Amino acid sequence: MSDKDKPCAGFATRAIHCGYDAYAGHGSLNPPIYLSSTYTFPTVEDGAARFAGEQAGFVYSRVGNPTTALLEARLAELEGGEAALATASGQGATTSLLWTLLAPGDEIIADKTLYGCTFGFLNHGLAKFGVKVTHVDLTDPANLEAAINPATRVVFFESPANPNMRLIDIAAVAAIARRHGALTVVDNTYCTPYLQRPIELGADFVLHSATKYLGGHGDLLAGVIVGPAEALTRVRFHGLKDMTGAVLSAQDAFLVLRGLKTLALRMDRHCANAQGVAEFLAVHPKVALVHFPGLPGFPQFELARRQMAQPGGMIAFELKEGIEAGRRFMNALRLFTRAVSLGDAESLAQHPASMTHCFYTPEERAEHLIGEGLVRLSVGLEDLADLLADLEKAMESA
Ligand SMILES: *Cc1c(COP(=O)(O)O)cnc(C)c1O
Repeated sequence: MSDKDKPCAGFATRAIHCGYDAYAGHGSLNPPIYLSSTYTFPTVEDGAARFAGEQAGFVYSRVGNPTTALLEARLAELEGGEAALATASGQGATTSLLWTLLAPGDEIIADKTLYGCTFGFLNHGLAKFGVKVTHVDLTDPANLEAAINPATRVVFFESPANPNMRLIDIAAVAAIARRHGALTVVDNTYCTPYLQRPIELGADFVLHSATKYLGGHGDLLAGVIVGPAEALTRVRFHGLKDMTGAVLSAQDAFLVLRGLKTLALRMDRHCANAQGVAEFLAVHPKVALVHFPGLPGFPQFELARRQMAQPGGMIAFELKEGIEAGRRFMNALRLFTRAVSLGDAESLAQHPASMTHCFYTPEERAEHLIGEGLVRLSVGLEDLADLLADLEKAMESA
């Protein structure tokens, strides 16, 4: 019996099995971790053929490693893409991809709300090298239609956006981009392919910080890009090999593979807990506003239901008494941990204006719709009752 005989239809099954054939090796249940920087060639002619891409096989771990290749095959499968490329971090995925797709004179249109370091890379990195960076509010696809032009090469966004949870209609935006000859790149970190698959909705590339839900345990940094095989070969040999060198280690590829085995289970629990926390916050007298796609009052509730299988595990909210109340609230938390990052077993709380989005000026935060008093929660896997008790107590100090 081999791998090909396995019935692998469902998401959870594929996240555990896909791409690995234990019978092809020593029968080990888990894939081996190939700790090798380089690969041997039987003859110099074999070496030449591998370099020329005429012979299958590995050359050097900056361009490929068997453990990392398994992770790439599995993530491509789960996202519904042709191929995937693993990277050392989410930032490595963003930079390796965009250094490859963009050239001086090109324009990238990005949504107004972006992960802080993505914003930094675009505006303080790409922009220095002759790429025009334009921010457009993509929550209304008509804004893209108005802004897009022949120089626009890439349309880039997150949905839900970090940290304010605005959603973008992936199918509508990707259709406009395609009509104008631009490529759509979606940062799917908040959802994972278990909740949302942008390529099926028309996007060209998906990228992730696998540091978050895909790894799931807060013990590594990793990233991935999923997209067309031919384009990803260019990203591998140009963006990753030559430009960023942001190569994922085999050890960390193994840990992400381990995380994927429980992705479906974990996401179900993250979503159920977040729903409970959001409902608690929504009726709390000290809370001004809760941004969570699973609340019927969420402005894009219908889009969330259409585009996401479940509302996810991330919540943003604002306290009526603003930033000072937010600080008191955060300092009073005992179970929620004050930390950036997200998607871990532990529930985490952070204040974007002083942490993840401190690289924006206050004017930029206002312009990019990130409230000074916004608190961001990554709801973990603990017992909901304990999480609610912690929030209730901290609210007394708020
Ligand atoms: C964390 C994060 C990134 C960057 O990923 P790293 O793994 O930290 O480099 C990019 N996008 C989003 C939405 C993130 O949350």
